Amino acid sequence: MKPLGLYIHIPFCRSKCLYCDFCSFPHRNSDDFVAYVDALCRDLQTRAEECALYTVDTVYFGGGTPTLLPSALLVKILETVFCSYHIASDAEITLECNPATADRNAFSTLFHAGFRRISIGLQSAHEAELRTLGRLHSFADFERTFYDAREAGFANISADVMFGLPHQSTESYLQTIERLCSLSPEHISAYGLTVEDGTPFEKMGDRLLLPNEEETRKMYFEGIRVLAAHGYEQYEISNFSRRGYRSRHNLKYWNCEEYLGFGPAAYSDFGGKRFGNSRDLKAYTDGRSILAESESPSFEERVNEYVMLRLRLTDGIDRTAFETRFGQNFDQRFGKALARYQTFGLVKQTACGWAFTPQGFYVSNAILSELLDFSQ
Ligand code: SF4
Repeated sequence: MKPLGLYIHIPFCRSKCLYCDFCSFPHRNSDDFVAYVDALCRDLQTRAEECALYTVDTVYFGGGTPTLLPSALLVKILETVFCSYHIASDAEITLECNPATADRNAFSTLFHAGFRRISIGLQSAHEAELRTLGRLHSFADFERTFYDAREAGFANISADVMFGLPHQSTESYLQTIERLCSLSPEHISAYGLTVEDGTPFEKMGDRLLLPNEEETRKMYFEGIRVLAAHGYEQYEISNFSRRGYRSRHNLKYWNCEEYLGFGPAAYSDFGGKRFGNSRDLKAYTDGRSILAESESPSFEERVNEYVMLRLRLTDGIDRTAFETRFGQNFDQRFGKALARYQTFGLVKQTACGWAFTPQGFYVSNAILSELLDFSQ
């Protein structure tokens, strides 16, 4: 049986954060939820036939804010997954949530249904920064949600924070990290803010007072230092964990493994094809196809994708794994170009291949586009 990840999108939020470009809609009423979950369950059942030869070892409920759905509906979706797919006994089953959208009772119900990992969006421990982002919760809400999840049995909790926010200083970012680390989550994601097209932040233009490049760079490197001092190992550009708690689902994306996505804006890489849905929530809920794009990547596209995604990981590229997968010698193909970056201290040779240095991570986008052009 081949391994497979399932991504299940829940596209509802209480309101829209000012920087958000994810597919999420302010929820209107509980009828919307019921209709959406019915459509989702039908979709899950329909696709299951194609997955008869797969074992699902990760399931990820993302959003949006999945915990806006009543627990009974989340349980119904998970039960549909259990009934329709072969699920590994040690599957990682993650639920994203936002502070103050689930309480102890809800977490207990979800834990008993089979969810095992909670990922909470904190973003900042400062009320003023949260308001600037358009977030509706406080740090106290986050703490309560975190403890509720712990007390309900969740031994694997992740939290997201952001840096490079309007009016944020390195000091305030590090305070956020310190306050978060004092709760001892197993996993932390630390993302730099990007101003996405079409968001209120983008429309603010120059009125959005962001930290300058030097300050943002300092936040990134100081953040890594403080997280390491608290025992969080960086394993990807933006992801840190205690030993044994890397996100298995997200590792599938970076390792170019197969996954199926369900719901609006969900993407899949399955059976040699990459395909993605549109954001048309109404069409999806009505049971119509929302397949918006589908392609069968060429061999060269797969090589480039693999190099790009694997180099996001601190483990980097393993020469032997590359050769097994593509039948090519990695060093012959990329070694000369990488050696050039090595002289600038941006990449390094590891025991089994190549990886970015911390400095290289910070400019990885620029390096990767040069590297892939160079190797053509
Ligand atoms: S909670 Fe997350 S998904 Fe929802 S609007 Fe805010 S950033 Fe977007």
